[in-house]
Amino acid sequence: QLNVVWLRNDLRSFDNAVLSSAAEDGARTGAVVIALYIATPKTWQLHDMAPIKQDLIRRRVKQLQQELATLNIPLLAVEGSSYQQIPAVFKQLGQHFLLKVFVQSEYELREQQRDNAVDQAVLALNGQFIRFDTQCIMPPGSVRTQQGDIYKVFTPFKRSWLAQLKQHGVSCYARPKPVAQVELKLPDFPPLKAGDNSSAEWPVAEQDVLQLMRAFCREKVQDYQTARDFPAIEGTSKLSAYLAIGVVSAAQCIARLQLEAADSWQQDKSGAEVWLSELIWREFYKHILLAYPDLIKHQPFQAETAAIRWSNNPLLFKAWCDGMTGYPIVDAAMRQLNQTGWMHNRLRMITASFLVKDLHIDWRWGERYFMSKLIDGDFAANNGGWQWAASTGTDAAPYFRIFNPVSQSEKFDPNGDFIRFYVPQLSKLQGKAVHWPHGAGTANGYPAPVVDHGEARKHTLALFAEVKKKA
Ligand code: FAD
Repeated sequence: QLNVVWLRNDLRSFDNAVLSSAAEDGARTGAVVIALYIATPKTWQLHDMAPIKQDLIRRRVKQLQQELATLNIPLLAVEGSSYQQIPAVFKQLGQHFLLKVFVQSEYELREQQRDNAVDQAVLALNGQFIRFDTQCIMPPGSVRTQQGDIYKVFTPFKRSWLAQLKQHGVSCYARPKPVAQVELKLPDFPPLKAGDNSSAEWPVAEQDVLQLMRAFCREKVQDYQTARDFPAIEGTSKLSAYLAIGVVSAAQCIARLQLEAADSWQQDKSGAEVWLSELIWREFYKHILLAYPDLIKHQPFQAETAAIRWSNNPLLFKAWCDGMTGYPIVDAAMRQLNQTGWMHNRLRMITASFLVKDLHIDWRWGERYFMSKLIDGDFAANNGGWQWAASTGTDAAPYFRIFNPVSQSEKFDPNGDFIRFYVPQLSKLQGKAVHWPHGAGTANGYPAPVVDHGEARKHTLALFAEVKKKA
């Protein structure tokens, strides 16, 4: 028997239910354990996965190959193309071995179809396909109201989630012990290709990533509640890329948080409690995604908002993508995204709001653009964030609450340091001019504002009023 740990968004050896269970089963039954990763660049493209995220995955898989070698678990890293091709890989393995396949469940549509197809293929070979619901601490579907319904609002969801945490605690799987070394002849598959190295600034060794997480919990989390809103400060964990592909798990983050911030982690509005809330938002959006599969087809959660008559001006969209809107905070943020593959959360909210409520462009254009650039691109969080900002989602910002990009800039980048860093044309401006350089005569080739915020705001209110009236 061959126990196959089919890795996807769980690229780690600590707290990996799938790996630990396969190893334990192997020790008991004498089955040989291997890990498997199959790259699917065609499907990644279909999902608009950013090249920098693809590179991070490729680098991480190669690194994990070395890490698992110390456990005597070979990682078969295969260069595939699309999900459709994956059952054939298992059929080929199944010609030589009786298969027991271990996977972590995924909730997006194509991923569920892919897993069902592989499940059937493995079953047809008399093998077993075993799923573990470990992407979240509380598996999607498990946090419900007393009536058994899914929560549509975050605060009661969080309350119920915390009650479950109190009841069950949080536990992590130990890294498996080395398994017996076996000489194994595996079929030949095309080996995983190297990436373009665009993610080189992001470490990929598991110990390095765990160190980052531990250092954040030890040194930064106590100030998180205030520091997290200022993009010029490194006040957040920057773990999103690793959580998205599972180099670190949410359970590991919370276990460490409890340890480092034992006396404050449940204190209302302490840094630790606010950070915990963000990890619960991550779970909330995955719960919502599983319960409302239409979201995966990019439908708005509030159905009436599907009728909003967006202007979808391609020139304005291009100005937004390029960071050339004439609104410094928006432009600095978009340039951060384009240059680094990551954007600060406050700026994701500001730029998303600006695209939808100042430029009147369909939120799905922005959702897609973000996905194509983000190193931490995650369907549930990205869709949830966009629908929140566009006021089309569950527990979204009310449509009449419209960010003023200039006051947001003055509030969250008070000295203009972040703007000056990413918009060199404005680097010499001092004082308030950096937030609104127009008329200062020193704009240095910096574009004039592409819209008037006051006018744009009125138009947004009218667009929403039109669909709300009919609903
Ligand atoms: P921290 O502040 O340290 O938070 C810790 C972790 O909690 C994050 O790493 C992330 O896993 C989770 N988290 C934090 N905020 C949220 C949130 N609002 N929703 C869900 N999970 C959250 N996050 C992604 O991981 N992938 C995305 O594709 C993504 N797209 C977004 C799009 C928009 C329009 C918005 C408004 C938010 C989006 N977010 C996304 C959420 C959030 O902006 C990022 O998770 C955060 O900026 C990552 O930085 P960090 O790791 O330093 O976060």
